[in-house]
Amino acid sequence: MTYFKEIKKGKGPKRLFIGGVHGKEGLTTIEALSQISEGDIKNGVLNIYNFEESPYISTLDRHYYASDRGKEIISIIRDLKPEMYVELHCYNSNSFCKLTDLDRKELTGVPPLIHLEKGVLIGSISPYIRTSLFDEWDVCITLEIPCKASKEAMDVYIKIIDAVASSKDKQELLDKLRKDYPEQIKTAAKYAIELYWEGYPPL
Ligand SMILES: [Zn+2]
Repeated sequence: MTYFKEIKKGKGPKRLFIGGVHGKEGLTTIEALSQISEGDIKNGVLNIYNFEESPYISTLDRHYYASDRGKEIISIIRDLKPEMYVELHCYNSNSFCKLTDLDRKELTGVPPLIHLEKGVLIGSISPYIRTSLFDEWDVCITLEIPCKASKEAMDVYIKIIDAVASSKDKQELLDKLRKDYPEQIKTAAKYAIELYWEGYPPL
């Protein structure tokens, strides 16, 4: 069953967290998403979805957005129009090098993910939806954790989504993230701008 939760605290940013984007990732991402509670949100709106298993198609493959799950996610984004969007994913530990490879852009067309700590990686979202469904200044984050996550990794993963949930605006969020990960956030911002302007053709 899809896990859904909506928290409303008056005026403020609209936030959307999605786990279970493809494959069995929802089994891992629910552990983090279920930790977010009413008290974590100070203003605005947060909608949380965690989906059950679906066929694994990469979000870098345009066919993903023609699949049932891909279409569902597009329609949720179109309905809510979030200014802060976090996609929670998980990866097989063997893929760490491939995901963070500095040549990833040449190999796949998208920048590498950035290692925060404990195996938790941050990056932008699929270029197929980044430019067509969001504004330039919206916060769009992909967060990856090993699917078989250690407690330490899960704590970092939860800390990041909690920072997005509890920040009143983009500035507060960036300040929080920069405090713990100054270099990583600088690199992430650079990649995000490159990706936005050079991105893939929209769907
Ligand atoms: Zn994924």
